[in-house]
Amino acid sequence: MRLLIAMMMHETNTFSPVPTDLQRFALGPGEVPPRGDAAIAAFRGTGTATGAFIDLAEKAGAEYEVALAAHAAPSGLVHDEAYESMSAAILQAVARGGFDGILLDLHGAMVSQSHEDGEGELLRRIRAIDPQTPIGVAYDMHANVYADMVELAQTVAGYQTYPHVDMHGTGVRAGSALLKLLQGQAKPTTAWGRLPMIPHIMRQSSLDEPNRALQARAQQMEKEGALCASVFTGFPHADIQNAGMSVVVVTDNDPALAQRLRDELMQMAWNSRAQWVYGLEPLAASVSRAKTLTEFPVMLLDHYDNAASGGTMDTTAVLAEVLRQGLRNVAVFAIFDPQAVQEAIAAGIGAQVRLQVGGKMAMPLMPHRSAPIELSGVVKLISNGQYRNKGPMSQGARQNMGRTVVIDTGDVEVVLISRHVEPFDVNALLCLGIDPTQKQFVLLKSRVHWRAGLGHLARATVECAGAGACTSDYSELQFKKLRRPIYPLEPSVSWTPEGGAQATPG
Ligand SMILES: [Zn+2]
Repeated sequence: MRLLIAMMMHETNTFSPVPTDLQRFALGPGEVPPRGDAAIAAFRGTGTATGAFIDLAEKAGAEYEVALAAHAAPSGLVHDEAYESMSAAILQAVARGGFDGILLDLHGAMVSQSHEDGEGELLRRIRAIDPQTPIGVAYDMHANVYADMVELAQTVAGYQTYPHVDMHGTGVRAGSALLKLLQGQAKPTTAWGRLPMIPHIMRQSSLDEPNRALQARAQQMEKEGALCASVFTGFPHADIQNAGMSVVVVTDNDPALAQRLRDELMQMAWNSRAQWVYGLEPLAASVSRAKTLTEFPVMLLDHYDNAASGGTMDTTAVLAEVLRQGLRNVAVFAIFDPQAVQEAIAAGIGAQVRLQVGGKMAMPLMPHRSAPIELSGVVKLISNGQYRNKGPMSQGARQNMGRTVVIDTGDVEVVLISRHVEPFDVNALLCLGIDPTQKQFVLLKSRVHWRAGLGHLARATVECAGAGACTSDYSELQFKKLRRPIYPLEPSVSWTPEGGAQATPG
C-alpha cells in the first residue's frame, strides 16, 4: 500500500489586514514550506494530524510520501501565489500517481484571494486529475464547510476539542477510516448538513457547555459504531457564504444511520443556539474587576486580538488599560512589533529604552484603530524566538515567534515578537524566562487555546474587550457575503432537519 500525505492549513480571517504569503507557511524565516523528507522530519512524531497519518502509514507497513506540510498562523486572505504554489506541490504528486489513498491535513476555513472555499478548490483540482483514489481529510473544528469539502472525500473527521488537543486523534479517526476502506473492511458513507447559525468563538470551548455536550455526543456516536462524527462550530471572522456551524457523520455502509446521527447532532446544536451568544463587558470594568482578585495568577484575555484568529497582535487597548489602572507584576504575551524589537536589540541587554510599541498595522475593515503606546523600560532579554511545544496541543511541534525581546517596565514585562504566535503553550513564556505562576497577572492575546497549556495554572480569568481584527463585538463585522438569515444576526430564524433555514416574521 502506498499513501500520499499532505498538509495545507490556514484559518483565514477575511477582516484581518495581516498578509498571508507563502513565507508565512514556512517553519522559519527565509524558508519555504517543507516537502518530502523535510516535511516528514518536521512532523513525524508530532501531535498533529499529519503526525498521525505518518504513524498510521508506518504501523500499516505502507509506503508513504509527504507532498507538503504547510501551516500558517491565521491571518488575512491567502495570496493567490501562495495558494498556487502549495496546491501545485500536492497536485504534482497526485499526477505522478501510484497511490492507493490520499490523506489530507486541512483546516477547512482557508479563503484565498480567488477561492472562498480553499479546501473545496484543492479537492476539485485533485479530483480533476484523479477521480478515483480514496481521500481522507482531517479538518479543524473551525472549518466553514462547503459541499465539495465533504462530498469529494471518502472519510472526513474534525477536531472534537477546543482547545484543539486532539489534532493527532483526528488524524487517526480520518486516517483509520480510510485505511479500513482501502483494506476492504468498510464502505464509508457520509451525511452532512449546515445550520443557519454562527456561534460566537468565545462560547465555543469544548471544556464548557454547550459545546462540551455536543462534542461528547459525537464521540459517543463513534464508540457506538459511526466511523467519524464531527460537529464543526465554524469560524465566524470570515465574510463568506458558508461561515458557521455544520455536522458531518460517516458510517460504515449505512446511509440511514449517518442521516439519523447527523440530524440528532444538528438538532442538539440548534436547541442550544442561545447559549452560543456572548455577552460583552466594558474594558475598564473588566480590568478593575481583575484588580480586586487576590488569587494569582489571573489571566487577562485580550480576546479581540488573538493571533490564532487573524489578530494583528499589535493592538494596545488592553495593555494601555492595565498600565492606566496600575496593575503590578504583570507579564504580557505579546505585542507584534518587529520594528520595536529591532530598536531594543540595537540598544542591547540592560539598556534603558523608550519605545513606541504596537498600533502600527492599519485595520481598514475594522471601525476602530489602535494607537501605539509608549513603553519605558529595560531590555531584559533578547531571543531568537524558537521553541518546541510542551503540549498537550500540537506537542513537540516547532514554534517560531521571530526575533523577540522582553521589556521590563518595573511593573510589567512586555514580550515583543516579530512573528505571530498564539500563547497556547507554556514554553512560549518559559523560553523567555517568564514563569507564569510567579506573576499576578498574565495578559494573553488568546481566547480559548491558552487553556491547553496554561489553563491549569490560572486561578482566575478575566476577559478583556480591547480592539482588533477578531473583535468579539460581531456588530463590528460587516458581513456582505454571509448567507442570511442566520442566528443570532436574525434572532427569529427557524430551522428543522426537513425544512432547512427559514426566516419567520418578527
Ligand atoms: Zn480551530
